Parts: sequence; structure tokens; C-alpha cells
Amino acid sequence: MRDGHGRVIDYLRISLTDRCNFRCIYCMPESGVQQMGHDEILRIEEIEAIARVATGIGIRSVRLTGGEPLVRKGVVDLVAALNDMPGIVNVSMTTNGVLLPEMASDLKAAGLSRVNISLDTLDADQFADITRVGKIESTLKGIEAALEAGFNPVKINAVTVRRLNQDYLEFAKLSIDRPLHVRFIEYMPVGESTGSDGSGWDRTDVIPSEELLEIINDRAIAEGMPALEPLDGEHKPLGWGPARYFEFPGALGTVGFISPLSRHFCSECNRLRLTADGKLRPCLFSDREIDVRAALREGGEEAVHNAFLEALNLKPDEHHDKVGTERNMSQIGG
Ligand code: SAM
Ligand code: SF4
Repeated sequence: MRDGHGRVIDYLRISLTDRCNFRCIYCMPESGVQQMGHDEILRIEEIEAIARVATGIGIRSVRLTGGEPLVRKGVVDLVAALNDMPGIVNVSMTTNGVLLPEMASDLKAAGLSRVNISLDTLDADQFADITRVGKIESTLKGIEAALEAGFNPVKINAVTVRRLNQDYLEFAKLSIDRPLHVRFIEYMPVGESTGSDGSGWDRTDVIPSEELLEIINDRAIAEGMPALEPLDGEHKPLGWGPARYFEFPGALGTVGFISPLSRHFCSECNRLRLTADGKLRPCLFSDREIDVRAALREGGEEAVHNAFLEALNLKPDEHHDKVGTERNMSQIGG
């Protein structure tokens, strides 16, 4: 189905929980966020009911996210139910990977088709600083588990924040020897108190993708390596979405750049978001929400259908460089 601006909307990101085993500096405040009450969170069968209605307005792909989706009880069964649902052609997940060693093969068997794992650095101390409570081995083991379970593609999402001075070339090299698809994401102004020193998001912290590409290529050439080459459609990893992809010649994986700020893809936006407490968000950057939980609990599936139609109508044409949202990323579902 099309939204009020003629875009086909076929992709729903579902946040399963606002809880997380990390406290990433760009995603939530150090103290964590006020957790949603048990009754506020959608039950697994409510998520299924909402997804079923969503297929009726044309949703075909679903991505499970959070908070950390793998800490949600019943996630494997939910993947299986969504995978079996008529109309849904693709169920994917974004995770910090910590629980993948114990869950990857069950998720694969349940029909999860793709997994994106978030990792911003290969430096153990920097990883601990960024996640505040995490250990790099846990996410690295999660990546191994995803590859071993046969997920393909396995994408690695890295948020770039200028003041962190991450080693981008070392990170991009992850794509060379193994089929890993590294994607650099511009730091987005979501939530009020992102930022390691509590000062919040700052425009100077954003590294525009064009600049990052140049930094990586300059360093590669200085090391005697070839530069990244742009990829044509055929070689792009499945579900390439809004990223622009490159590869080092002969590499098994790719390097992508996602530029929500410097090259925003609003005109191609195909998504809606469902928060863990059952609010439909037409746009990541807008605080307008439609209460689909109340619609389901009070009005049933027809009311949910109407809530989706309202969300389609409310999708803005673009995010107009809005800075800050009432919810943090972990509460929206990044
Ligand atoms: N816990 C899971 C994870 O980290 O992959 C899923 C939820 S997390 C909110 C989803 C994605 O949003 C992660 O890749 C994370 O790096 C990204 N993210 C969080 N805050 C962000 C921000 N301010 N700007 C850009 N990306 C952000
Ligand atoms: Fe948790 Fe993911 Fe947010 Fe990090 S980015 S705090 S892992 S939800």
C-alpha cells in the first residue's frame, strides 16, 4: 500500500523490548531508561495479531529489534510464527549478538532469514566505553555463531561518532576474508541524552559518509591497499536497503554506508515502526505515534487496521533535519 506521498510501505520494524544488556552511549543514558511496565509491553500473541493485520496493508518484511530483541522471552517462537504467516516473505533481526552463541541455530531453524549485528569498534577498551557494560568477546562470538549457523548475509552495523575516533579502516577490513557486510551508519540525533559526556548529540560528531569513504580510502592507499570500489546491483548483499555498497577487490564481503543525515533516503522510505509498548511510529525522527495497543485491546483487528491506515497517512515527506526525539533509540527500535 502507498502512503500519503506515494511511497510503497512494505517493511515493519518491531521492537520487542526496551530492555538491553548493553547501555550504548549513543542509544540510552548511563542510568538506562525508565522501563516499561509488564502490562504496557505487547504480549507475543499481540505482536502476532498486529503483524497479521499489517500484512493486509501490504507489509511483507519484518525486522525484530529493540532494546535487545534476544532478551525477550518467546522470541524464537515469534520468529517461527512470523515466518509462517501468509504475506510475510522475510523476517530479519538487529541484535548486539551477545545471545547468538546460544540462540543462532534455533533462530535459523525458526526461519530467521537475516541478521544484523551491531559492533562499532575492534578495540576492546573502546567497545567497553561505548557499550558501558559490554565485553567485545561476547559480540565477536555472536558474529561467529551467526556465520556458523549459516546466516547469509551477516551484516555488521557500526555507528560512527567523530569524537570516538574509531579505526574505520581496520573495521572495513573485516569484510575482506569472510562474508561479512560492514555498514557504517551516521550518528543520528535520536533521544535527548545521547553522548558520552552527557552533552547530547552534536552535529560535529556526525561523519558524513562521503568523508568517511575518503578517510578509509586514503588510509588504505597509505597502507598499500587498493581503494574501495562501488558495487553494482548484482553483488549487493540481499536486503541492501538504503546503504550504498563498495568492496575491496577480491573481498568476500562488502562495505556499506548508510547516510540518514547527509543523503537522507526519505523519498525511498518504505517503513513503519512498532514500539515495544505498541505505538506505531510513521517516522523515526517524529514523535507522532498511533496507539495500536489500545486499538487492539479495545477495538480488535479492525481498529488495528485503521491505525495502520492512519500511520500511512501521517508519514511525513521527510525528516527535515529534526534533532532530538522524546524517546531514545532503545525505546523506539533502531
Ligand atoms: N540492541 C540491538 C542492537 O544494538 O543491534 C537492536 C537495537 S539498536 C537500537 C538498533 C541499531 O540502532 C543498532 O545498530 C545501533 O547501533 C543503532 N543506533 C542506536 N542509537 C543510534 C544513533 N543515535 N544513531 C545511529 N544509530 C543508532
Ligand atoms: Fe542496547 Fe542496541 Fe541500544 Fe546498544 S544500541 S544500548 S545494544 S539497544
